Amino acid sequence: MNLVEIDAFEILDRITDGFFALDMNWNFTYVNDNATRLLFRSRDNLVGKNIWIEFPEAVDLIFYKQYQKAVNEQVFVHFESYFPPLHAWFSVRAYPSDNGLSVYFQDITAEKKTASQNEQHYKSLFEHNPNAVFSFDLEGNYLSVNTAMVKMLGYSEQELLLKTFIPLVAEEDLDKTMDYYKRAANGTTQNYEIKCLHKNGDIVYLSVTNMPIIVDQEVIGVYGIAKNITDRKLTEQKLLKSEKLSAVGQLSASIAHEIRNPLTALKGFLQLMKASEGRIKDSYLEVMSSEMERIELITGELLLLAKPQAHQFKLENIEEIIQNVTTLLGSQALMHNVEIKIVNDETIPPVRCIANQLKQVFINLIKNALESMQYGGKVLINVQVKDDQTLFISIADEGEGIPEDLLRNIGLPFYTTKQKGTGLGMMTSLRIIEAHNGTMDITSTVGKGTVVSISLPLVSCDQVIELTECMN
Ligand code: ADP
Ligand code: MG
Repeated sequence: MNLVEIDAFEILDRITDGFFALDMNWNFTYVNDNATRLLFRSRDNLVGKNIWIEFPEAVDLIFYKQYQKAVNEQVFVHFESYFPPLHAWFSVRAYPSDNGLSVYFQDITAEKKTASQNEQHYKSLFEHNPNAVFSFDLEGNYLSVNTAMVKMLGYSEQELLLKTFIPLVAEEDLDKTMDYYKRAANGTTQNYEIKCLHKNGDIVYLSVTNMPIIVDQEVIGVYGIAKNITDRKLTEQKLLKSEKLSAVGQLSASIAHEIRNPLTALKGFLQLMKASEGRIKDSYLEVMSSEMERIELITGELLLLAKPQAHQFKLENIEEIIQNVTTLLGSQALMHNVEIKIVNDETIPPVRCIANQLKQVFINLIKNALESMQYGGKVLINVQVKDDQTLFISIADEGEGIPEDLLRNIGLPFYTTKQKGTGLGMMTSLRIIEAHNGTMDITSTVGKGTVVSISLPLVSCDQVIELTECMN
């Protein structure tokens, strides 16, 4: 051994990697300190011995193949492998030389453990998540789905992995879902609610979050998390129905009152008519027929409101809807000593809506306004078109107002400050407006009054023509 070699061995002893050298017959010629430590063998115990005899388990493992390759092909090899006899993971680099093979290696068991634990954590988060978790490629094909997803939609994992989301989404929600999906694939997280179809044909309501899968700063797919909200949706629909029935029930009392007045008048006129003739009789008849028309209008409105109807969106005249509602509430307004005034733009385009549901909203809001005005006053309903795109409707009262800290409770189910209140009016109104893609806001000043503002999207002229054609 010359001086240069001694220096080299000294250096090799100091490096943190394990190092050993093998000759052409696979015998150890040198083993550094760290290698003796990592392999649990002394230097004397190894030098001069054959690696495949000392570590026979390695023959069937990647070690044998890789060392053979390095020597036979004279190439550098790098690999990681678990070595069961030592219960350890090694990262190995082997360099061929004229005399044999130089091998550097590190124990990476700790890193592997952390990585595998991290992986297991994520896997557990995915697999045991009570929400459906899934991922898509950029074409919308499922790449992975968890157990909750399988349960939620009734399809097996294999069935889902052969699909895109398209056949799973209810037809009316498909366009919307595609839009959200594309936006997520463009890098922005999306939250939305949709109707999906269970394998057995049932409708499943889902609240979905879609977010981009970003690897090396590039979107390579979309992750999804979906929560089953079917129970909530069904309860909401039931509430909506019961609220409507309770509104109808409450209205009928005041309407009976409303009808009794013209009926008394009619009875009186009939008696007068018995005793009169000619022109006087005619003028009585005129009053009588106008009173009867009013009864017809009011009972007609009430029946229409109570009648269960298919929830169908149609182009409707909003002025007429509001007018009908104020007619219905006329007697209640009178009892509260309130004047209802409607101010609107000259031409209001038709609104795509479910008329009965919007009527329910206006009944709820106007009733609240009336009920807030103990000492009478005015309810001002303002209808305005903005930028040809949005319809603004505000309902302003001069009532007691709502304290600021209570404002955020308004719209929570069953929140009421009234002895006989249901606390459902504002919630159902909000839900209905949301289902019409609109918004509803409330501002209030104690002692001055409350303003509820609604905005509804207007359809453009082209769409109106298209829709009218569809409806014909
Ligand atoms: P309810 O009318 O049965 O109490 P709502 O959901 O219609 O239920 O209203 C909830 C609560 O919101 C009311 O009890 C009332 O305190 C408040 N509120 C709603 N509208 C008004 C208003 N215009 N003025 C004052 N308070 C209002
Ligand atoms: Mg109410």
